[in-house]
Amino acid sequence: GKPPVSVLGLGAMGTALARAWLAAGHEVTVWNRTPARTEPLAAAGARVAATAAGAVAANELVVLCLLDDASVGEVLADADLTGKDLVNLTTGTPGDARARAEWARRRGARLLDGGIMAVPPMIGVPDSGGYVLYSGPRALFDTHRDTLAVPSGARYVGEDPGFAALHDVALLSAMTGMFAGVHHAFALIRKEDIAPGKFAGLLADWLVAMAPMAHTTAERLESGDRTTGVVSNLAMMVTGNATLLRTADEQGVSTELLTPYTELMARHLEDGHGEEDGSGMVDLLAR
Ligand code: NDP
Repeated sequence: GKPPVSVLGLGAMGTALARAWLAAGHEVTVWNRTPARTEPLAAAGARVAATAAGAVAANELVVLCLLDDASVGEVLADADLTGKDLVNLTTGTPGDARARAEWARRRGARLLDGGIMAVPPMIGVPDSGGYVLYSGPRALFDTHRDTLAVPSGARYVGEDPGFAALHDVALLSAMTGMFAGVHHAFALIRKEDIAPGKFAGLLADWLVAMAPMAHTTAERLESGDRTTGVVSNLAMMVTGNATLLRTADEQGVSTELLTPYTELMARHLEDGHGEEDGSGMVDLLAR
């Protein structure tokens, strides 16, 4: 039969995960701090454990999807983790994940850390585009690979337990910058007779067209060559930034989001990097 799974934490995400395993025919044992949240899952066929320690005892494979790293420590405080395979899908920092892996090892368990690149409605939906990043012992990932691939795609990113969180947060950080830009763009057109719905099409297409520039940045970081074949140099971009800031002023829009980045670009130009593209900003930030 399919491996049974324990799921601790039945928020929006934990519930979606448990449902996906149930739907795929896995036996699922659930636990949640607020017991009422187990009821819909019990109705769908899940076993309900009265305590977190009981949910851990029920199965070898134990999935945690709690609010934050501190709640993981609290929930597992009294559980016997000996011989358990823990899969921690609680979002945390790379440091949290490394410390939690060492904490699990001392308590006799193995730990895979996961970063969920999906929202709950994407879980259990084939080809949703969502996936989970995993890091930790390769053999542990391979052992549970088929089970882990049930709720969404499973991508292994390395033995270092911190790597799933690092990749996760790097992607989320890029997303944060993207959303900041999207919101600034809508603010610029806000007071005009321009339908947001129509503008959104242009905006989404533009972001998609620019996204592959990530590969150009990667090539420059790998080769170390910041200048050959540059089509948009930093000096030009810094001049262009003045137009972005003046347009914001004209439209009555705050420049709070744009100013910190444009100031960094101007500083890099002053440091003599005008002939480069923007990839040198990585060096500036990573100091
Ligand atoms: P919710 O806020 O919906 O659920 C939080 C869960 O954590 C609940 O089960 C809650 O229990 C439990 N919890 C919180 N604090 C404690 C504690 N001290 N002790 C025991 N249990 C606790 O969050 P989500 O389900 O949305 O998110 C869970 C994890 O998944 C987070 O780390 C989040 O970053 C990650 N994630 C979520 C995504 C999303 O779009 N939702 C996307 C990607 C990752 P109770 O019911 O008792 O409050």
